[in-house]
Amino acid sequence: MGNASNSGARRGPSAGGTAYPNERRPWTTGELKTLSTMRNEGADAIAAILGRSPKAVRRMASKAHVSLRVRPGDICPICGMREVRPHTMAARHGMCPTCWMERLTRLREEEAAQRRAEREYQAAKKRAQRA
Ligand SMILES: [Zn+2]
Repeated sequence: MGNASNSGARRGPSAGGTAYPNERRPWTTGELKTLSTMRNEGADAIAAILGRSPKAVRRMASKAHVSLRVRPGDICPICGMREVRPHTMAARHGMCPTCWMERLTRLREEEAAQRRAEREYQAAKKRAQRA
């Protein structure tokens, strides 16, 4: 019932070692590598290995764009219908091959549009200089 502030509520009175000895240390390159190579095992397994909390693992995974969700037979979160195929580039990005292809296509189109805009900008600049 009490409406007391929530901060620090998790800090129980129990003394002794923390369950996550590495929680406060900055992530090392090796840990990031473990994160991406073991991502199929899920956050809890990775957390246990690294001595960090599952929450911290999930946070870092999303920051590092590593999907922890892809498992063999998983449904692609983008289209919600096709299966993600493990060990493909698409799976590494957490989606099915079709969605990955569509995404690549979009990226290509954006790239082309950017180049076009850049060309137009340069041309306009030249015209401005001449004027
Ligand atoms: Zn898909």
